[in-house]
Amino acid sequence: MVSTDNLDKYRSKRDFRKSPEPTGNEETGTSEPRFVIQEHDASSLHYDFRLEVDGVLKSWAVPKGPSTDPSIKRLAIPTEDHPLAYATFEGVIPEGEYGAGTVLVWDMGTYRNLKNDEGEGPSLTETIDEGKVTVWLDGEKLRGGYALVRTGDGDDARWLLIKMDDDEADARRNPTNTEPQSVLTGRTLEEIAEEERT
Ligand code: MN
Repeated sequence: MVSTDNLDKYRSKRDFRKSPEPTGNEETGTSEPRFVIQEHDASSLHYDFRLEVDGVLKSWAVPKGPSTDPSIKRLAIPTEDHPLAYATFEGVIPEGEYGAGTVLVWDMGTYRNLKNDEGEGPSLTETIDEGKVTVWLDGEKLRGGYALVRTGDGDDARWLLIKMDDDEADARRNPTNTEPQSVLTGRTLEEIAEEERT
């Protein structure tokens, strides 16, 4: 992933006359950087993990979703930068459109770059470029340290999302199964699909 990506790629994939997704021209403003995890029932179900960095949402698709167990590594596939307004997007992307399917805001909150807690370490963009991201999440479902690490080079590069071993780690929790509702509206995927069908 090239961290200087802007929203051209995001916009080029979408027809905003047909999809209700944000265009990226919305007014937004937050003091602390946000993270969001969206469950996306597309051609294959996955969780989109997004971090607010330099005015966009840096994004990875995590097929199995995040774990709270530090011994579990979850594949995370980099995807195009998304606009900040996407953090609160929940709804149905119509059939035939890019990413067609239901989107649910599974978790949301703020995050801190653990490599730069004192304001002196690398920026989050630098940690992405290095493939060694560590963030502290303050979400409703997920809390604590998470690492996003790139292994391998070139075509063999893989990113992994791993819970760090801290007080918030819990191998017994399985929140993607036990806490399926939207943190925004309390709805399930099925309820969103039912209510927003056009
Ligand atoms: Mn997705």
